[in-house]
Amino acid sequence: MPIDATRPYDDSNIFARILRGELPCKKVFEDDHVLAFHDINPAAPTHILVIPKGAYVSWDDFSGRAPDAEIAAFVRAVGRIAREEGLVAPGYRLLANTGGNAGQEVPHLHVHIFGGGPLGPMLS
Ligand code: 5GP
Repeated sequence: MPIDATRPYDDSNIFARILRGELPCKKVFEDDHVLAFHDINPAAPTHILVIPKGAYVSWDDFSGRAPDAEIAAFVRAVGRIAREEGLVAPGYRLLANTGGNAGQEVPHLHVHIFGGGPLGPMLS
Protein backbone atom coordinates (compact mmCIF):
# COMPACT_ATOMS: atom_id res chain seq x y z
CA MET A 1 0.00 0.00 0.00
CA PRO A 2 1.65 3.29 -1.07
CA ILE A 3 2.33 5.76 1.72
CA ASP A 4 1.55 9.43 2.19
CA ALA A 5 4.96 11.15 1.95
CA THR A 6 3.77 14.01 4.17
CA ARG A 7 3.05 11.80 7.17
CA PRO A 8 5.23 11.93 10.31
CA TYR A 9 8.05 9.42 10.67
CA ASP A 10 7.07 6.12 12.31
CA ASP A 11 10.01 4.04 13.50
CA SER A 12 8.10 0.74 13.24
CA ASN A 13 8.81 0.61 9.47
CA ILE A 14 10.87 -2.24 7.99
CA PHE A 15 13.96 -0.18 7.21
CA ALA A 16 14.03 1.32 10.71
CA ARG A 17 13.95 -2.26 12.01
CA ILE A 18 16.83 -3.21 9.70
CA LEU A 19 18.79 -0.19 10.98
CA ARG A 20 18.22 -1.32 14.58
CA GLY A 21 19.41 -4.83 13.71
CA GLU A 22 15.98 -6.36 14.40
CA LEU A 23 15.71 -7.68 10.83
CA PRO A 24 18.55 -9.03 8.67
CA CYS A 25 19.80 -7.55 5.42
CA LYS A 26 22.47 -8.34 2.86
CA LYS A 27 24.69 -5.34 3.58
CA VAL A 28 26.63 -3.65 0.79
CA PHE A 29 27.93 -0.54 2.56
CA GLU A 30 27.71 1.23 5.92
CA ASP A 31 29.15 4.39 7.44
CA ASP A 32 28.05 6.88 10.12
CA HIS A 33 25.18 8.25 8.02
CA VAL A 34 24.21 5.58 5.52
CA LEU A 35 23.32 1.89 5.18
CA ALA A 36 22.99 0.10 1.83
CA PHE A 37 21.73 -3.44 1.24
CA HIS A 38 20.37 -5.66 -1.51
CA ASP A 39 16.65 -5.40 -2.26
CA ILE A 40 14.78 -8.51 -1.08
CA ASN A 41 12.86 -8.67 -4.38
CA PRO A 42 15.35 -7.49 -7.02
CA ALA A 43 13.99 -5.81 -10.13
CA ALA A 44 17.38 -5.83 -11.91
CA PRO A 45 20.52 -8.02 -11.77
CA THR A 46 21.92 -5.52 -9.26
CA HIS A 47 19.29 -3.83 -7.07
CA ILE A 48 20.59 -2.02 -4.02
CA LEU A 49 18.68 0.17 -1.55
CA VAL A 50 20.55 3.07 0.06
CA ILE A 51 19.02 4.59 3.20
CA PRO A 52 20.05 7.37 5.57
CA LYS A 53 20.45 6.39 9.22
CA GLY A 54 18.44 9.48 10.17
CA ALA A 55 14.65 9.30 10.47
CA TYR A 56 13.28 10.66 7.19
CA VAL A 57 10.03 9.49 5.58
CA SER A 58 10.83 10.36 1.98
CA TRP A 59 13.02 12.27 -0.43
CA ASP A 60 10.85 15.30 0.30
CA ASP A 61 11.38 15.04 4.05
CA PHE A 62 15.13 14.42 3.65
CA SER A 63 15.80 17.19 1.14
CA GLY A 64 13.77 19.70 3.16
CA ARG A 65 14.98 18.92 6.67
CA ALA A 66 18.27 17.01 6.79
CA PRO A 67 21.50 18.83 7.68
CA ASP A 68 23.80 19.52 4.74
CA ALA A 69 26.38 17.07 6.11
CA GLU A 70 23.86 14.20 6.03
CA ILE A 71 22.75 15.08 2.52
CA ALA A 72 26.33 15.27 1.30
CA ALA A 73 27.21 11.97 2.96
CA PHE A 74 24.18 10.29 1.42
CA VAL A 75 24.78 11.56 -2.11
CA ARG A 76 28.46 10.64 -1.95
CA ALA A 77 27.63 7.18 -0.61
CA VAL A 78 25.21 6.49 -3.47
CA GLY A 79 27.90 7.40 -5.98
CA ARG A 80 30.58 5.43 -4.15
CA ILE A 81 28.44 2.29 -3.96
CA ALA A 82 27.71 2.44 -7.69
CA ARG A 83 31.43 2.84 -8.42
CA GLU A 84 32.43 0.02 -6.07
CA GLU A 85 29.80 -2.29 -7.58
CA GLY A 86 31.29 -1.63 -11.04
CA LEU A 87 28.10 -0.04 -12.33
CA VAL A 88 29.45 3.22 -13.77
CA ALA A 89 30.93 2.05 -17.07
CA PRO A 90 27.96 -0.14 -18.06
CA GLY A 91 25.49 2.35 -16.60
CA TYR A 92 22.96 2.41 -13.80
CA ARG A 93 19.72 4.06 -12.68
CA LEU A 94 18.68 5.81 -9.46
CA LEU A 95 15.08 5.95 -8.22
CA ALA A 96 13.48 7.50 -5.13
CA ASN A 97 9.76 6.79 -5.11
CA THR A 98 8.06 9.55 -3.13
CA GLY A 99 4.49 9.10 -1.97
CA GLY A 100 1.38 7.55 -3.42
CA ASN A 101 1.57 8.26 -7.14
CA ALA A 102 5.11 6.86 -7.23
CA GLY A 103 4.13 3.77 -5.24
CA GLN A 104 6.46 4.34 -2.26
CA GLU A 105 5.83 1.41 0.08
CA VAL A 106 8.36 1.83 2.88
CA PRO A 107 8.11 5.11 4.84
CA HIS A 108 11.86 5.55 5.34
CA LEU A 109 13.72 7.33 2.54
CA HIS A 110 15.47 4.93 0.19
CA VAL A 111 17.19 5.36 -3.13
CA HIS A 112 17.15 2.35 -5.42
CA ILE A 113 20.30 1.64 -7.45
CA PHE A 114 19.52 -0.54 -10.48
CA GLY A 115 22.23 -1.98 -12.71
CA GLY A 116 24.06 -5.07 -13.78
CA GLY A 117 22.36 -5.34 -17.18
CA PRO A 118 20.19 -3.46 -19.66
CA LEU A 119 17.39 -1.74 -17.71
CA GLY A 120 14.88 -0.86 -20.41
CA PRO A 121 12.99 2.40 -20.42
CA MET A 122 11.62 2.30 -16.85
CA LEU A 123 11.81 0.35 -13.59
CA SER A 124 9.70 0.87 -10.49
P1 5GP B 1 9.45 1.45 -2.71
O1 5GP B 1 8.32 0.90 -3.53
O2 5GP B 1 9.01 1.90 -1.35
O3 5GP B 1 10.25 2.48 -3.45
O4 5GP B 1 10.47 0.25 -2.54
C1 5GP B 1 10.54 -0.55 -1.41
C2 5GP B 1 11.52 -1.66 -1.73
O5 5GP B 1 11.87 -2.29 -0.53
C3 5GP B 1 10.97 -2.73 -2.67
O6 5GP B 1 11.81 -2.82 -3.82
C4 5GP B 1 11.00 -3.99 -1.82
O7 5GP B 1 11.35 -5.15 -2.56
C5 5GP B 1 12.03 -3.67 -0.77
N1 5GP B 1 11.83 -4.34 0.50
C6 5GP B 1 10.66 -4.45 1.19
N2 5GP B 1 10.86 -5.10 2.34
C7 5GP B 1 12.17 -5.42 2.39
C8 5GP B 1 12.97 -6.11 3.34
O8 5GP B 1 12.52 -6.56 4.40
N3 5GP B 1 14.30 -6.25 3.05
C9 5GP B 1 14.84 -5.75 1.90
N4 5GP B 1 16.15 -5.94 1.71
N5 5GP B 1 14.11 -5.10 0.97
C10 5GP B 1 12.79 -4.93 1.22
